[in-house]
Parts: sequence; C-alpha cells; structure tokens
Amino acid sequence: MTLSARASRAEAAIESVTSFFARMQALTDVPDAVDLTFGNPHEMPLPGLAAAMSAQLTPRSVDWFAYTGSRRDAQETIAQGLQSELGLPFEPDDIAMTQGAFGAISLALALLTDPGDEVVVPVPGWFCYEPMLQVRDLTPVRAALTPDSFDLDIDAIARAITDRTRVVVVNSPANPTGRVYPKSAWDALADVLESASAAHGRRIWLLSDEPYRRIRFDGIGFTSPAGSYPWTLIDYSYGKVLLAPGQRLGYLALSPLLPADDKASLRAALVPLGLAIGWGFPDAIMQYAVPDLESLSLDMEELTRKRDRAYGALADAGFTITRPEGTFYLWGRAPGDDARAFCDAVAARGVHIMPGTLFDTPECFRISLTATMPMLDRAIPVLIDVAAEHAAAG
Ligand code: PLP
Repeated sequence: MTLSARASRAEAAIESVTSFFARMQALTDVPDAVDLTFGNPHEMPLPGLAAAMSAQLTPRSVDWFAYTGSRRDAQETIAQGLQSELGLPFEPDDIAMTQGAFGAISLALALLTDPGDEVVVPVPGWFCYEPMLQVRDLTPVRAALTPDSFDLDIDAIARAITDRTRVVVVNSPANPTGRVYPKSAWDALADVLESASAAHGRRIWLLSDEPYRRIRFDGIGFTSPAGSYPWTLIDYSYGKVLLAPGQRLGYLALSPLLPADDKASLRAALVPLGLAIGWGFPDAIMQYAVPDLESLSLDMEELTRKRDRAYGALADAGFTITRPEGTFYLWGRAPGDDARAFCDAVAARGVHIMPGTLFDTPECFRISLTATMPMLDRAIPVLIDVAAEHAAAG
C-alpha cells in the first residue's frame, strides 16, 4: 500500500468530483461545448483585480517578498470591514490571513479537532468538506437540509450530534442551493449547540463557511452565526467575489463574542498553526492588495440578470428549481429525479451541468451562473428540450 489509509479515504471521498473534473478537462478541445459546471470564470478577469495586483508588483523594500504571516494592515482592513458588514466588534488579532476559504477551513480544523472527532456537514453541501475531514482522520456526519426548501434543519443537526462531535459546519449563502439563512435559524442552532455542549461536557464549535457572503441578490440581508453563537469561526475567500479562485486569498475570523480565555488561546495559536499546516498564509502580493480588493466585486447586476434569465426560463418550463438568494449557482430537480441521466442527455448536446451525485443528492443538478449570457442562451433551450423529451417518453 503506497497511500496512507486516510489518504485513500480522502481520495475516495472526492472521487466523484475528480473523475467529473477529468471529463470536463477532456472537453476543452471540443468546439462550442457549453461548460456550466464548476464556478470558474468565463470572461476576462475584473480590471480592478489586475490593477490592484500590479500596483504591488514593484518591490518598495528589501523585505517586500520576505516570509510574512498575516500582515497587520490586511488584518486591520478586514476587521474594520467585518465590523461594518456583520455589526460585531472584530479586532485585527481575530483575523488570520489564509490561502482562501480552503486554507481557512484547514486552519480551523487544525486548531479545533483531534483524530476521531466527528464533524457535522450539510447535505447537499460542498463536496470538499468530506475529503478535508478524511485526510485529518475526522469523521464526517451528514445532516440533511430540509427537503425541497433546503432550509437549515436544526433538528437534523441536533440528531447528528454525538459525544464525539467537535465541529458543526454551516454554509450561507449555500453552495449548491443558493439559500441564505436568517438570524432566527442561527439563534435556534445556537440553542441546540449550547445545550448539546453542556449535555456532552464538551464544547461544540461552529464553522461558518462564508465565501459567498457578498454574493447576494435582491438586497437580501446577511447575518452570520458568529453573532448568535460565540464559539464560531468564520472562513472567507476573495476567490468568489473577485471570480478569481486561482489567486488564493482569504481569512479565518474568530467571533468577537468568544469568551476571553478561548479567544486568547486561539489568537496565540493562529500563527503557529498557520506554520504547522504548511505555510497557510497567502502570498505577499495578495495581502498587500487587500485594501483595494475589499471593495471590489463581480458585477452583481449582470449576475442578477443571468440568475433571472436562467431561473425564469427553467421555472416557466416547469422545472422544480430553487430561486437563488445568493451564490452564483442554480439548483434544480432533474426530470424523473435522475440527474445523472439528465446531465448525460444534455451533455450529448454539448451542454455540461453538474449532477447532484457530486453533492450526494442524485435527483438534483447544479448550473454555474459564472457562464456568459450567450452560453446560458445556448444552454437553456437544450435543458428544456431534454426535459420535454423525457416527459413525452415517460
Ligand atoms: N466553501 C464553499 C462552500 C465553496 O463552494 C468553496 C469553493 O468552491 C470553498 C469553500 C473554497 O473556496 P476557495 O477556493 O476560494 O478557497
């Protein structure tokens, strides 16, 4: 056996995604293939992103590209931004700069968990939670979202908790459903976590995965569970809002409501654990650019037009589809509840969407709205035609 047991488990946990990704890579040479699968950019990067990075390229001192953990000015900018965004008194020391949300999640798991601990994850939910847990010898425990509406199911989370639970992961705005959860859900979850922690004599932590926090439609508000449950860590990424996931920048933020002793232990561990996980800090250029990047965003008006176009056409055609409140994904139910067959049938006509099998939800599919409008215009009739053919055949 070459691979460690946990490496094999992690590999198996992400196999459906890596094999799907390989299939999509093979398509890069196929002319006119419409790729609505991963949340990748399909247009030139935001000019403001290139400008912010080039402004930092020329060294201003000998240590411009020296080893640097979390840069103080980046932490200050982010703490201020979080104060106004979430209405909580974040301080620079509560922020650890990371390689995107991936890095922040790794850091949180390294800080809080021991091998054998259980971590509760949402289903449907992001496909990288489970491999990230498996590679650390952690046990993923799935808690289903409410069927059809994909609300947070607090009772399902309560049922998933055992005396081995260390972390509960929540994700709002949610991938793949596009749902944004209200404060009432966080308050109810906080009650459950507080009493379960007391019952099991062990603190259960909440990891709030918020990389889509700034991608919301129709002026819908955002509340973080960090304001409802003090033992919350927030992970964030700039990769989504800048539509540049290949440029790694994000952070882990401690809830300002954390009790002083917990806060002191975690603050002191942020740098050592950033080293321990293998230089978890972002590159110098990205950190220097934080003040410019904080206010930069993909074009939300254009994304709203795409959401309305795709959601409107598919809902009118009779699809059961969740109207996204946030993220750049559209989550729908496949005809006959067989997303694999549906995705294969539309792929045969050059349109590629993601089957819900990658999210442990084989009856659903996900469309990425990072596509261009012409791509959506080409794809929508295909989706509608294939569904109509299925209905006629059925
Ligand atoms: N969390 C969720 C829910 C995601 O969808 C993603 C990326 O797809 C991440 C975390 C990781 O984000 P990043 O690649 O920007 O670190």
